[in-house]
Amino acid sequence: MDQPASPLDTIRGRIAQAARIAGRAPEAVELVAISKTHPAEAIAPLLAAGHRVFGENRVQEAQSKWPALREAYPEVQLHLVGQLQSNKAQEAVATFDCIHSLDRPSLVTALGAAMEKAGRRVPCFVQVNIGEEEQKGGCSLAELPALLAAAADAGIPVIGLMCVPPAGIEAAPFFALLAKLAADHGLHRLSMGMSEDFETAVMLGATHVRVGSALFGARG
Ligand SMILES: *Cc1c(COP(=O)(O)O)cnc(C)c1O
Repeated sequence: MDQPASPLDTIRGRIAQAARIAGRAPEAVELVAISKTHPAEAIAPLLAAGHRVFGENRVQEAQSKWPALREAYPEVQLHLVGQLQSNKAQEAVATFDCIHSLDRPSLVTALGAAMEKAGRRVPCFVQVNIGEEEQKGGCSLAELPALLAAAADAGIPVIGLMCVPPAGIEAAPFFALLAKLAADHGLHRLSMGMSEDFETAVMLGATHVRVGSALFGARG
């Protein structure tokens, strides 16, 4: 008897299909399973199925949830998505293997100092406010070159760009713009695409898709 496909298998299959349509290798796309708000019991099936790359949006939640899981699965890679306060930089550097939300000069200073102190250089994406929305995280397009230069000066390994496009409107033009900005700056990785639009993002070059609710169900 066939088992019904798990959400993880379904999402992996959809990523692979989108990659093939775009002439890309499916392995070129990292699925970051966004487990924020979901307890360890919800994460366990993905770990048991071999998934190892997860994302959280709060330092404190990650620190309470992940140490025990990491003891059982030491190869876990934990990514930080979402706003990071400068006063949490040190904890973020100690807790995460990748940071997707470097978005302002004060955070460059704080993360640069934290990485120096810890002797641990955590790869970062610079988050761009791609729709130039008020109240949204991310640096403006105009600020991007200076922020990249500051990050380089601070010894922060910036590996690519990240965005969360405006809600309620076709995301493709924003993904395409992020890809162009990254290429203009010689950056090769793109963190873009969430549950609603990850296939579009993959077709437009995403190397990291951040999928939460499509894997874990709605957040309470
Ligand atoms: C919560 C979150 C996601 C995942 O969102 P879903 O719509 O649940 O897939 C992705 N990126 C960021 C920055 C998030 O905060």
